[in-house]
Amino acid sequence: MPQLITLTAWTCRTNVGWVKDVLSSSGDKTYTVRWGPIQAQKRSYEYGWTCTCLGFKYHNSCTHIKTTRESGVRCAWNADLDPALDYNRKGQWPQCPSCGGPVKAYKVAV
Ligand SMILES: [Zn+2]
Ligand SMILES: [Zn+2]
Repeated sequence: MPQLITLTAWTCRTNVGWVKDVLSSSGDKTYTVRWGPIQAQKRSYEYGWTCTCLGFKYHNSCTHIKTTRESGVRCAWNADLDPALDYNRKGQWPQCPSCGGPVKAYKVAV
């Protein structure tokens, strides 16, 4: 049986949890679009989009999520996109190279 090797990888904080307020199409309401864990199964999480509007509540999707996702405002960078980046060498807590925001360490099996 091959030995499981785990490495520390980095992911932008926007991959762990992210929130954005979106104005309704009529402009009189604000909905909250979220990216984050939607379902926890034992110790693993399933990530996905949610929105506080009625459309999402009844149809599990809505235009707010669609436009937010397509606009690319959520950074969504992770080390897989830039595997050559070696933060440990710098000996300091890294920043997301894409948006400059905080990052989070996670373990990956290779
Ligand atoms: Zn919505
Ligand atoms: Zn980022």
